[in-house]
Amino acid sequence: MKHLLVILTFLYFVNTVSAQPVIKKPGKDPSAIINQPIRNAPGVTKYDFSDVKICIDKPLPTGNLPPRILPPVQRDPKINRDGSISKTSVSQQGLVSEASPYLWAPGETITVAMSTANSTDFIRGKVMQYAKIWELYANIRFAFVSQWSNAMIRVAFVPNHTSWSVTGRSVLLAPRDSATMNFGWFTNTTAETDFSSTITHEFGHVLGFLHEHQSPNSPLEWNLEKTYEYFRVTNNMSQERVNSQVINKFSSSYTNFSAFDRLSIMCYHFPAALLVNGGQDMPYNTQLSEMDKKYAGIWYPAFIPTPTQYGVITTNDDCDSISFKIEYDVVEKYQVEFNLSLGSMNGKKASWWKQIGIPLTNGTETYLEVLNNSLIPSENHTSSQQSIVFNFIDKTRGISFAKAKFLGIHTPLNLRWDLLSALRGGCRVTLQWNRETCQ
Ligand SMILES: [Zn+2]
Repeated sequence: MKHLLVILTFLYFVNTVSAQPVIKKPGKDPSAIINQPIRNAPGVTKYDFSDVKICIDKPLPTGNLPPRILPPVQRDPKINRDGSISKTSVSQQGLVSEASPYLWAPGETITVAMSTANSTDFIRGKVMQYAKIWELYANIRFAFVSQWSNAMIRVAFVPNHTSWSVTGRSVLLAPRDSATMNFGWFTNTTAETDFSSTITHEFGHVLGFLHEHQSPNSPLEWNLEKTYEYFRVTNNMSQERVNSQVINKFSSSYTNFSAFDRLSIMCYHFPAALLVNGGQDMPYNTQLSEMDKKYAGIWYPAFIPTPTQYGVITTNDDCDSISFKIEYDVVEKYQVEFNLSLGSMNGKKASWWKQIGIPLTNGTETYLEVLNNSLIPSENHTSSQQSIVFNFIDKTRGISFAKAKFLGIHTPLNLRWDLLSALRGGCRVTLQWNRETCQ
């Protein structure tokens, strides 16, 4: 018995001094490394670090990206109260000089395709749900497409316990047949917080956001020995990889950055024991922080909305008075919606037949007409609506006006309203014919 004890002690000694580290598989309990103390302080969350999965950044492909497209913001022309148009100056989008080529253009639509291999409708639905969270704060749209070859972002679900994404517009340099993002551990029973945390994080990379714990502003000071050991045991990472993914800070010369934000979705979740100064564990962030939301809006700013414009035009005929309202970004961007109705002024209703004509690029006009007081009741309609493809509208000609005059004769009026050059797709034009005689 004594001999056995000696041999065991000897073996133990040999093992601990061996130059070859014991290779352990991912998912091992790291509690011995981090010596996690029991926290009794109120308000301090105690985490279980035995199965923390992390995102491994994909190195940026090399190559020259085309410059970030930053179109100047064309302010909409001012439509004066009398219907005349005043051109306004063109202003430049903010933050241009600080923009990185890895960021997308504000307002850009990024197409995303998802592999059906190793994924379910449920999992793909989660990816769509959490990717689109960014759209609430960044002026960016993710359009999910079915064809892999049409997608800028190509999502795979290879079950290798590794999640990663190529960063920002460098996806455009990735080989077209390869994935640019992988989710390596999703199943139908994955916890909702894991879907939320992982998907939101990876789509943050798509927008060009990097790991927050490597921010040039990061105050983190790592206990190197513990940090290398911790990530080796938990995620099978080499020292080199721990340096590139955890410890090295990004250069301030090529990154835009905020004050360090420990609540950022782009921050790793790890125990405070890895830091020289200890403190609180880096929390498990499952949703965008307030700073994430704010900076998403700063790097992808929304366009300044144009306020609704109002006024009244006259047709130079019979004291006609037609009120107008021009609204912006209220219908689909490819079209303009026109509305015409009969109204009243000073208690007197406008009546009979009225018409406006919208000139088209094929040389014709399309008409909206209103009518009441017809002897045939079914002919009466006091409002009319038409949506016209913006590119089909001839902006060089004005809107025409016509109305029923003496004996009901349909008569063109002496006005071409030069409004169309001031419109853009997404506008709604509402006209109300309120007065038709001088009495
Ligand atoms: Zn990441």
